[in-house]
Amino acid sequence: SAGEVVLAAKGIGVRYGGVTALDDVSFEVTEGEIIGLIGPNGAGKTTFIDAISGFADAEGSVALAGESLDGRHAHQRSRAGLGRTFQGIDLYEDLSVRENVMVGTTASLGRGAGNPPLDDAQMAQLFEVLHLDKVTERPVRELSQGQRQLVSVARALAGRPRVVLLDEPAAGLDSTESAWLGLRLKAIRDAGTTIIMVDHDMDLVLDVCDRIVVLDLGKRIAIGTPAEVRNNPDVTRAYLGSA
Ligand code: ATP
Repeated sequence: SAGEVVLAAKGIGVRYGGVTALDDVSFEVTEGEIIGLIGPNGAGKTTFIDAISGFADAEGSVALAGESLDGRHAHQRSRAGLGRTFQGIDLYEDLSVRENVMVGTTASLGRGAGNPPLDDAQMAQLFEVLHLDKVTERPVRELSQGQRQLVSVARALAGRPRVVLLDEPAAGLDSTESAWLGLRLKAIRDAGTTIIMVDHDMDLVLDVCDRIVVLDLGKRIAIGTPAEVRNNPDVTRAYLGSA
């Protein structure tokens, strides 16, 4: 319920050969929050999503609603209630929006595996929340970039996760589409899903996130409200350093 820790990441570290992609990153996410994960290129944001969702070998521990996910495979973490999207849009262009989202309920991709699939009413509600209800039978290739991003999000939500990790949902969107996406993300949160999102669109992140975690060179350099993070000199320095 609201106010409880729903995801706890402790001492997360990932190494790729000689490269330390993530180093001892810890933070807790409260149920009902939208958390933003930002940082310059190569900071470790996608690596963090991969570590939490079981797509990268990582040190440290992850707990979802008090249950340890350590040592569990990606599909088991998905089944436990962790959803995710992938950077770039990985949709089946010739299939309909509905068919693409249905993929999110099948075991083959390890997303939402084992969870009871959404029934027709729940599926209709999901499409309504994301404002995709008018285009559910259209092939994905006919959709705008903004709608396509939302189909990816819908697919991740079809497994009914408690927490969903979104990797750059605003990539390729203009500012109007991005503001629109922000409204939809708030609606998803209001419908009961906690969100962790990585994005480079600072206007979007500052607008929708309750708290922001800043990574630089694999380390957590700041955590706080949008106002706190914006005024943090370490954050400014990290971004200037990478410019
Ligand atoms: P961006 O904003 O550019 O997407 P990011 O913050 O998501 O960056 P990551 O993609 O997590 O950063 O990369 C963190 C570091 O780990 C980088 O130095 C990157 O080169 C390295 N890295 C990431 N994935 C791999 C991999 N599969 N093999 C080797 N090195 C990797």
